[in-house]
Amino acid sequence: MAGDRESVEEQCDRAFSHADNRAVGMEPTYSGALSFMRRRYSKDFRAADVDVVVSGVPFDLGTTNRPGARFGPRGVREASAQLAWGRHWPWPFDAFEHVGVIDWGDVFFESGNPQEMLGKVEAHAEAILAAGKSLLTLGGDHFVTLPLLRAHARHHGRLSLIHFDAHTDTYEESGRYDHGNMFRHAASEGLIDPERSVQIGIRTDYARENHGFTVLDADWVQNHPLQASIDTIHEKVGDNRAYLSFDIDCLDPSCAPGTGTPVVGGLTTNQALQILRSFVDVRLVGMDLVEVAPVYDVGAITALAGAHLAMDYLCVRAAQKLAGSGVAPA
Ligand code: MN
Ligand code: MN
Repeated sequence: MAGDRESVEEQCDRAFSHADNRAVGMEPTYSGALSFMRRRYSKDFRAADVDVVVSGVPFDLGTTNRPGARFGPRGVREASAQLAWGRHWPWPFDAFEHVGVIDWGDVFFESGNPQEMLGKVEAHAEAILAAGKSLLTLGGDHFVTLPLLRAHARHHGRLSLIHFDAHTDTYEESGRYDHGNMFRHAASEGLIDPERSVQIGIRTDYARENHGFTVLDADWVQNHPLQASIDTIHEKVGDNRAYLSFDIDCLDPSCAPGTGTPVVGGLTTNQALQILRSFVDVRLVGMDLVEVAPVYDVGAITALAGAHLAMDYLCVRAAQKLAGSGVAPA
């Protein structure tokens, strides 16, 4: 009977009962402790069986419109419980058998202190990268990508940016640092190379002259076969190391209403997923999923889309590992 009791315990609360960081298993979607994809909560990112560290950055003081993305990490973790029951469509494997993933929890910083957030997130990312691991970060508003890029570029060199968004986030704002201009700062700091970067799903105005980045606007994506978007991204990025930043407002509000600055006329969730799944041969060094704001959501579809996109990223990493491709620790 002792054995029975043990097996029952192992079927619940895998966020703290998983035996190791590659363990797989099912648990009721509607109960138990919530972590991203029921991964183990652990601060030990240096463990040998860890490949990817999931962290939350519950920050939304960089928003220019509606706040609420500070609840994004919690919302995405909760939605991900609906996906944590085995092989993730359409991949022919269970990613967690191949890629060790922990949920580190949320980065702590004083609320009301954006400067502290910048330092804490950058230091957190640097420590993980120095340990030879990679990051999957849940925002937070899009401003959190700036400290992440600072750490990634220091470790990996100047990066290609693969950026899904309704907005270019390169707006000219004299002296301002917020979620609408951090990619302008990232380019001027030399963290990313606009000439080898692509922005997908854009449908708000931007300074087209001297913009530098390749833009696949939402209409262009809709009016061409999806393979054309995929080919352009692969062509621009080539064999450069690439950071993937996914602002959930890239998706149409019918797919992702739960975000601070929704813009009609966007991509469907499925279009974005198909593009993301094509990145198995792209040298991805990390990903963030930002701007999920559960308070504006309907039936948690935005958080679910975010969880799905993040999970497909992990499947891409698993496929790379199986193929022996991807990026070795620098
Ligand atoms: Mn946006
Ligand atoms: Mn954005």
